Amino acid sequence: MSFPFEALEACRAELEAEASTNDAQAIFPTHGLARLQALGVLSAALPLALGGAWPDATPAAATGLLRLLRLVGQGSLALGRVVEGHVNALRLVSRYGSEAQCAAVAADVRGGGLLGVWVTDGAHPLQLEQTAQGLTLRGQKAFASGAGHVTPALVTARTQADTTVMLRVAVGQGCVIHPSVGGLCGMRGAGTGQCDFVGLAVTPENLIGQDGDYLRQPEFSAGAWRAMAVALGGIERLTTVLRAQLAARGRAQAPAQLARIGRALIAAQTAMDWTRRAAVVATMQDRYEAGDVTATVNLARIAVERAGLEVIELAQRGLGLSAFIRTNVAERLTRDLATYLRQPAPDETLCEAAAWFTQRDLPPTEACA
Ligand SMILES: Cc1cc2nc3c(=O)[nH]c(=O)nc-3n(C[C@H](O)[C@H](O)[C@H](O)COP(=O)(O)OP(=O)(O)OC[C@H]3O[C@@H](n4cnc5c(N)ncnc54)[C@H](O)[C@@H]3O)c2cc1C
Repeated sequence: MSFPFEALEACRAELEAEASTNDAQAIFPTHGLARLQALGVLSAALPLALGGAWPDATPAAATGLLRLLRLVGQGSLALGRVVEGHVNALRLVSRYGSEAQCAAVAADVRGGGLLGVWVTDGAHPLQLEQTAQGLTLRGQKAFASGAGHVTPALVTARTQADTTVMLRVAVGQGCVIHPSVGGLCGMRGAGTGQCDFVGLAVTPENLIGQDGDYLRQPEFSAGAWRAMAVALGGIERLTTVLRAQLAARGRAQAPAQLARIGRALIAAQTAMDWTRRAAVVATMQDRYEAGDVTATVNLARIAVERAGLEVIELAQRGLGLSAFIRTNVAERLTRDLATYLRQPAPDETLCEAAAWFTQRDLPPTEACA
């Protein structure tokens, strides 16, 4: 199967328009999601034999998925987050699930299912309990994107033996969904809410993989490259908006503004180069040492974060107060990007990667050229 990238490129303006319209009320982008579904975005990351677009663990898979996520991010970071969560779930099931579970997930996708990965715990962390009635899930998942739209979801839970397990669960009975995190200032279209599990009954068939698989390296860290690819799309879009608005206002020729345009382009390309490097080592991780995969992706995370923060500052300085007016798309883009760049434990991520590469060089990634 070849993926229709041109059609995806063509619908970016539509995704952006919906994101802007829905922002104030934090409405989920159902129209954009349906468009992406029709283009095959939600099935592209399935294993090739189950209807995916690329052979697993190949340069084509790395560059294809990068291009897909980046294009969705250019149209809408919120929708990009939702797609990224879906792809993460597909990846985890294909890596750790049984053949039957992989087939069931492919059937979910063919049936229009949107998947998500809900890991971040709320005030009461999710627990898998053995009760007289069988296994049940009790506790909360916070910052759960696509809440109210995702089913099934992949969730992590602590067991009574203090291990972490991963389960594929139908979100419905036994769950109470709070569809949005009140007051989240950016990424308001991602449907980021909370799910309270109030005794959801599960069986051993719901378990994906073994105890500890979710946290297993290098896959645990490597998966972050997909969020970078979406963020990259947002960085590129904001850079384009900066250039276009400066030109439209006749301000692009001022030397200081030219310098901003140049710096934004450099930052966007830097984000691209690091994301591509991370995509290659993460996708073809069997060719690299596990520590190299983890540390490369972790450095890339920080590089993309830095690039995003720089472009936000350049856009706000270059466009001035107009970048703070709600009707200007730059205002929402900066809010969405700033919010999306908040990923877990950035300090630890940088320090661990730096420690790994203090006495060794980064691995070559020519395959990504
Ligand atoms: C739009 C959006 C959608 C999301 N969707 C999902 C989802 O679908 N599923 C899901 O599971 N999660 C989701 N999340 C949550 C996400 O995965 C992260 O948990 C969250 O973004 C972490 O952000 P944070 O800045 O609070 O991280 P933190 O890790 O709390 O970092 C904040 C700061 O504290 C520092 N820090 C961290 N730990 C320590 C420590 N022990 N001691 C000292 N300093 C420390 C960090 O380095 C950083 O400087 C989403 C988040 C967003 C923004």
